[in-house]
Amino acid sequence: MDRPRITIFDTTLRDGEQSPGCSMNVREKLHLAQQLDRLGVDVIEAGFPIASDGDFEAVQRIAATVRRPIIAGLARACSGDVDRAWQALQGAARPRIHVFLATSDIHLKYKLRITREQCLEQAREAVRHAKSLCADVEFSPEDATRTDVAFLCQVVEAVIAAGATTVNIPDTVGYSMPEEYGQLIRTLREKVAGIDKVTISTHCHNDLGLAVANSLAGVQQGARQVECTINGIGERAGNASLEEIVMAMRVRPDRYPYETAVASEQLYASSQTLAEITRVPVQPNKAITGRNAFAHEAGIHQDGMLKNPLTYEIMTPQSVGVPDSRLVLGKHSGRHALALRCEQLGHQFERRELDEIYRRFVVLADRIKKVQDSHLLELIQDVMRGDVSKGHVSSSDVAGSPGKKFPPAAATLPFPRAASAAAGSNSNELHFAQAASSDGQAETRPGCPPPTNWFGGVPFTDHHSEQEDYLWGV
Ligand SMILES: [Zn+2]
Repeated sequence: MDRPRITIFDTTLRDGEQSPGCSMNVREKLHLAQQLDRLGVDVIEAGFPIASDGDFEAVQRIAATVRRPIIAGLARACSGDVDRAWQALQGAARPRIHVFLATSDIHLKYKLRITREQCLEQAREAVRHAKSLCADVEFSPEDATRTDVAFLCQVVEAVIAAGATTVNIPDTVGYSMPEEYGQLIRTLREKVAGIDKVTISTHCHNDLGLAVANSLAGVQQGARQVECTINGIGERAGNASLEEIVMAMRVRPDRYPYETAVASEQLYASSQTLAEITRVPVQPNKAITGRNAFAHEAGIHQDGMLKNPLTYEIMTPQSVGVPDSRLVLGKHSGRHALALRCEQLGHQFERRELDEIYRRFVVLADRIKKVQDSHLLELIQDVMRGDVSKGHVSSSDVAGSPGKKFPPAAATLPFPRAASAAAGSNSNELHFAQAASSDGQAETRPGCPPPTNWFGGVPFTDHHSEQEDYLWGV
């Protein structure tokens, strides 16, 4: 069965560019537009031509250069704006004029100082004018989600009659809730004459972190265009994130049985291109494109990943263009992950050697958080040279007296059973849980239950050796 096709309308260059610190010059905009083309978006909103000469030129250059997608130019609902947008779009293979006018009472009263009747007439006139220039006209009732629903229906019906081909429903202030937004789309479909002839579009802001959820709710109720931005940039808290919308549909077609033309393997490159141009870094935990989105540090996760990525990955890094799933080596990493990284660096070790490397690795990781390959290589060389003193944690180090090379936390050695009495004396201060193993030595871990409880009370020493990895950082 054919799945409904969702038009991806990228507004990174318009709404996104309006976010603080994200302004781009003409050359940069063109560069990003070319990447958006490779990404396969259907519509690129290239700018707001009347806003500045730079915006005008950017729209013009993009229209002349990027030929596959529709190129949209934004315009307020007045002839000057519409004419300027049309002028900028002259060279476009597939131009679209995007007209907007606020419709909520609060905007009409305080911002525009017009009545609902005047608003209705202005919207109708502007769309009619745009339609006289360009076959593809989109209309957005700004602040639609705070607009009286009956009045919103009236405006939408009027602009459809005037020739709009796409009607966009902006949650301009990010106020809506998913069910509410979906219901609004459903109401428009039920009440507005001619709505079946046009494409309904979502445009959701992220002030409450719901932009993607709201957009998807809109799609479920019949919206067939989603307006979004790379990395979710945009006014204030941003817009719906393009990569999250696309991958939600791709990963969960059972819940969102829709298609987009986006080449998901280009998502990471698009995100990186934008971050490089704007010098606004992507938050590390950003879904899909953040640097930690596919990183696994906890030992049990790493071990599972190495056995079968499906254990912890709902999509492959390759599917969104991330070169590889990076196993971050940190203090929560297990031996299995460490051994693999050593192998990747060209070193294979016997169990005993690996024990020593792992012991030193944990001490190091506790100090520097993230162990780079260079650190690991140095450590490997030390062990191979038989240098047992370097990085070794003596019991006095473990005691954590001031001025020591290692902080007290360095006592969190899972193997071998090193941190004995001295660590025990600090147990309260360091929040160590400890338990005596069968040989009478203390097993210590920070802030975790005693190992004896980890596998339903099975004595620690009886564990399968591989399970030792799991004891360190779930
Ligand atoms: Zn917006």
